[in-house]
Amino acid sequence: MSASEGSIHNLPTLSNHFARELPELSIPWQSEDFPAPEIAVLNEDLARDLGIDPEWLGTEEGMNFLLGKNLPEGATPVAQGYSGHQFGGFSPRLGDGRALLLGEITGPEDDIFDLHLKGSGPTPFSRGGDGRGALGPMLREYLISEAMHALGVPTTRALAVIRTGRRISRTRVVDGALLVRVAASHLRVGSFQYARLLDDDHLEITKKLADFAIRRHHPELMDTEKPYFELFRAVSREQVCLVARWMRLGFIHGVMNTDNTTISGETIDYGPCAFMDFYNPGTVFSSIDQQGRYAYGNQPVVLGWNLARFAETLLPLFDREADQALTLAQDEMVGHNQRYRAAWRAEMSEAIGLPERGEQSAMVELLDALEVILHEEQPDLTGFLRTLADSAEDGYSPLLALVKDQNRLREWLGLWRELGPDTQIMQESNPVYIPRNHLVEEALVAATDNGDLKPFHELLEVVTDPFLRRQGKERFEQPAPPDFGDYATFCGT
Ligand code: AMP
Ligand code: MG
Repeated sequence: MSASEGSIHNLPTLSNHFARELPELSIPWQSEDFPAPEIAVLNEDLARDLGIDPEWLGTEEGMNFLLGKNLPEGATPVAQGYSGHQFGGFSPRLGDGRALLLGEITGPEDDIFDLHLKGSGPTPFSRGGDGRGALGPMLREYLISEAMHALGVPTTRALAVIRTGRRISRTRVVDGALLVRVAASHLRVGSFQYARLLDDDHLEITKKLADFAIRRHHPELMDTEKPYFELFRAVSREQVCLVARWMRLGFIHGVMNTDNTTISGETIDYGPCAFMDFYNPGTVFSSIDQQGRYAYGNQPVVLGWNLARFAETLLPLFDREADQALTLAQDEMVGHNQRYRAAWRAEMSEAIGLPERGEQSAMVELLDALEVILHEEQPDLTGFLRTLADSAEDGYSPLLALVKDQNRLREWLGLWRELGPDTQIMQESNPVYIPRNHLVEEALVAATDNGDLKPFHELLEVVTDPFLRRQGKERFEQPAPPDFGDYATFCGT
């Protein structure tokens, strides 16, 4: 389609609710100019789901829409402000240092989504950073966030990766790119921390932000007696379920700062994240996480800590009586570990084909025993659970071959079978394919060093349809080869 034909296309509508209703929390801003932009990957299915014509997005006019250069009238792109506890230390002013909220899209089901750019150039929040993104990390977020979505994990989505045509400086000079991201919203615990910092005793901004979050994510809470406390409870519960699902899948976020804990309950910011190669609660991939604060096994605890920071921002709004507000918050926080454990059991009982029995005592024992086996055997979690799922068809030898203490596992299998596990549920809920680190690296090296996106697309195809085993794709379900070595990921890329 030529540019002139393209120009008759109606631009998608972008609302500016956040920019208009919460001007204190953002700065109107534009994306920088890009020397030679070119779409590297386009998520056609997601475009269709949003009611946007993917073919049009592939035209120059469509690409310019994605780049924030061809926006409908009334759209107000902004850099959002937020604070954040980073590795436990408070940074009052983080914000979108290399990102922009272009506006909100209303999908065909009347759901509202943020359309957001990452890597769109410097903003007043850049703090000395260049505001840009590198092709490798942007492709990485695309791949892993789309895999997470396919695995049934609430997450931001990736609509496109666009090369900018600009070379940028990292540990070496690399190709610049930006990610076009779609999310239920970009509200974070850090947004509330920022609002509280700006507020005086009347908490006007915090209250406005909480009202905005309730309207957007929990309209059913609007007329409750304690809407702000209910918001806190709802977010806590969703985040607990989210992290329990991460844990079941062996996902390590890597940088669970309060600015990366969403109010929507979605996973956000796939910087140093990675799936665990072999089960070990101490696993850390992020090169800057020296203390293991965000290690696999610590994620539920850190979530509790982040939720406590969220409660602090809303505390005066929970109840007019300060004592009562504190009691409400404390009672809720005291239940965190138990709630997490229940959510984890719900996930794991589904994984072993016995859903909704997580709280029965035989199941609790069975799951505790499974956890001991995982701790001591340190298997590839994905491979272990899927082999268990396939054992009704394949027999138990492949599973037993994965462990050292076969007698212990045999005993466990005996108890498990007595409870009558459902094989179909197991096969439908335990993935064959996850974005394994060695495969991700291989695909990204081909894309960035050789300009070859074939391995990326081949991996994307299996991880976005992860429960169905395919002939000829055996390689994608193997754990990392022994010579892959220790894996390290990097932040702020
Ligand atoms: P992230 O690690 O992507 O969650 O980012 C943490 C903070 O660092 C956010 O405030 C980002 O906007 C900021 N940031 C990350 N990379 C850059 C960059 N290249 N330029 C400016 N700011 C950045
Ligand atoms: Mg972030």
